[in-house]
Amino acid sequence: MNEVTFSITGMSCGTCADRVADALRALEGVHAVDVSYVLARAAVRHDPGVIQAAVVRKAIEKLGFTAAETPEDATAEASRVGRLRIASTIIVGLLLGVAWAARFFGWGPSWLTGALAGFAVVLGGYSIASRAIRAALHRQLSVDALVTIAALAAVAIGNYLEAGVVVFILLLGELLEEITVFKTSKAIRGLASLLPDTVTVKRGETEAEVGISEVAIGDIVVVRSGERIAVDGDVVAGNAIVDQSPITGESLPVKKAPGDEIYSGTINQIGAIEIRATKVGKETTVAKIKAMIAEAQGKKSAVQRQADRFAAYFVPAMLVIAIAVYFVTGDIQRAITILIVACPCALVLGTPTAVVAAIGAAARHGIVIRGGDVLETLGRVNGVVFDKTGTLTCGAPRVTDIKSICGHPPNDVLRFAAVAEKLSEHPLASAILDKAREWDLLISAPEDFQVQRGRGVEVKHDGLRIILGNRSLLTENAIALSPEAEAYMQNRESLGDTTLIVAHDKEICGLIALADPIREQAPETIRNLRASGVHRIIAMYTGDNHRTASSIARSLGIEEVAAGLLPQDKANRIKALSNNGHVVAMVGDGINDAPALATADVGIAMGMIGSDIAAQAANVTLLTDDLWHVPAALALGRKALAVIRQNIAFAMLFNTTMILLASGGIVCMVVGAVCHQASSLFVILNSMRLLLAMKRRPVPGEPR
Ligand code: ADP
Ligand code: MG
Repeated sequence: MNEVTFSITGMSCGTCADRVADALRALEGVHAVDVSYVLARAAVRHDPGVIQAAVVRKAIEKLGFTAAETPEDATAEASRVGRLRIASTIIVGLLLGVAWAARFFGWGPSWLTGALAGFAVVLGGYSIASRAIRAALHRQLSVDALVTIAALAAVAIGNYLEAGVVVFILLLGELLEEITVFKTSKAIRGLASLLPDTVTVKRGETEAEVGISEVAIGDIVVVRSGERIAVDGDVVAGNAIVDQSPITGESLPVKKAPGDEIYSGTINQIGAIEIRATKVGKETTVAKIKAMIAEAQGKKSAVQRQADRFAAYFVPAMLVIAIAVYFVTGDIQRAITILIVACPCALVLGTPTAVVAAIGAAARHGIVIRGGDVLETLGRVNGVVFDKTGTLTCGAPRVTDIKSICGHPPNDVLRFAAVAEKLSEHPLASAILDKAREWDLLISAPEDFQVQRGRGVEVKHDGLRIILGNRSLLTENAIALSPEAEAYMQNRESLGDTTLIVAHDKEICGLIALADPIREQAPETIRNLRASGVHRIIAMYTGDNHRTASSIARSLGIEEVAAGLLPQDKANRIKALSNNGHVVAMVGDGINDAPALATADVGIAMGMIGSDIAAQAANVTLLTDDLWHVPAALALGRKALAVIRQNIAFAMLFNTTMILLASGGIVCMVVGAVCHQASSLFVILNSMRLLLAMKRRPVPGEPR
């Protein structure tokens, strides 16, 4: 099985995309087809043994479009076709202008107007008619056909100028639509241009300039000031200040020194660094983000599928109405006008243009929304649940106090804890290991390391058991807390600290208190969510104990707290909220909350740059750990949903009104054509507003 993506030029409406999809689906050896008018693209899964990509391309071209397999070809092709179309539209317009002036001012002989307009009809109508005929051969009725019939009928009754104007309006409208759509989907193409064509690779002592596709994993890539970074890798030499905003939207540049991870698509502002490539080509961060966004923009949402289904019945129904009106009134012009105004272009365009614009806008801020469905659900969210550790807090706790019990010196307490955590990846583990390093303790590797998710760890060391974790882990192991230990823990926890119990050889030897600072943006984020008024529930779910959790929740203004939860408990509670009619967004950092992220109506994973973003269970991926992006994404979803509803309501109302007016003979052909194209354009422009909808975080002190 092979998957190819064709960039298609010449599709003028949603129905064209359907035509391409139907034609390709009918081919033998083609298994799956996804055609997007907005992205001007067809993704085709085919069996190369049965049908070759070139044959698929021919099939698209037989319908009257041009297709190219690589995006590079497509841009060249698109600009050539674009220039040709712009030129012919201008010429048609000029001819009509002169024709009109000739009639109005009585210039030249009387046949001049007709001749000029007739020429304009032929010049502009040729491509429309040929597309219409090709569609008709596939037994499909398109807008092109309606316009062709309208123009021919106008010519037949001697109305050359009117025929010309109808053709011109269709051409102009299409052109404007295409330009707007092109601008809208630029966000994805923008990402593609983030990579340089060549990179400098150091082999031994010599440096060589090689093409980007020739870089291999393990190569040392040299990046100088002002250059774009082409691969993911680790800095091995030098220092630099790197602008990560092209992929994360983060405005502050970051310092990179040896040992730091660096991502493709970012820009080295100042400094020179050498990077050892760890990911190249399709595996790089930028390539994966690009693929995810492109895929997301192409995915149809439920609303869109409904609109498409409706539109499919609409065109034949209008044909029947037009014929009926002709028989009743005997007025061919009215029937033609109905055909022109009835095409449901605005309806079909309403949703996909909004989805593309919103997903594109989010991508520029480092927010990856994985499809139109997700976007719509984001707009309907009325409950937001946060994970605590690593989400509302920095996830970088520090040891604040060590208490020894039963005569063990603090050194021993810390050493046992560090041995237990040596192989763990939990944020609490790094805090303990950092402290042990600070104290210069020698930490040997444990035997038999076991993680008790959401509770702690257990290991064997020198033949004895070390248990490190919370109360429930100790209770499970039948180890009791002394009143003294319990009092110490309660005291620290009411201050917001997390306390861990260290047990060695079935006896508690000490307690470690850790503090994880609250993220700077957390209080404001919660306030913002509350102020939006749409969230009936704002909650914090955590595996930490209740006292610590409440203390932190209180300082953030969160009323709903559930503590002491295992990863599965978080998921179950979220499911319960959903079953109660809430639309729940779960925000987490992916550590111990993957089940909850997957269960929620929308899972929002944050701080995902550097991880394997494409493998995440989340529907929304925030590349940075800026909490502000949570209310921003939810607000974007609401705006997108509103725009989609406006578009659909407008299109329905507009089409119905125009059909009635046309049936009553109140609007003529030309006015009908103008209004029809204007309605499509209106819908597209309305969607484009979403491109500007993402607000940056307000700078403190600045009036909002
Ligand atoms: P959260 O839900 O706040 O993100 P986790 O589910 O990761 O927290 O952990 C919940 C609790 O389980 C922690 O507060 C801690 O008491 C205990 N715990 C989990 N993993 C570890 C570990 N590696 N070492 C010590 N304690 C742990
Ligand atoms: Mg967590």
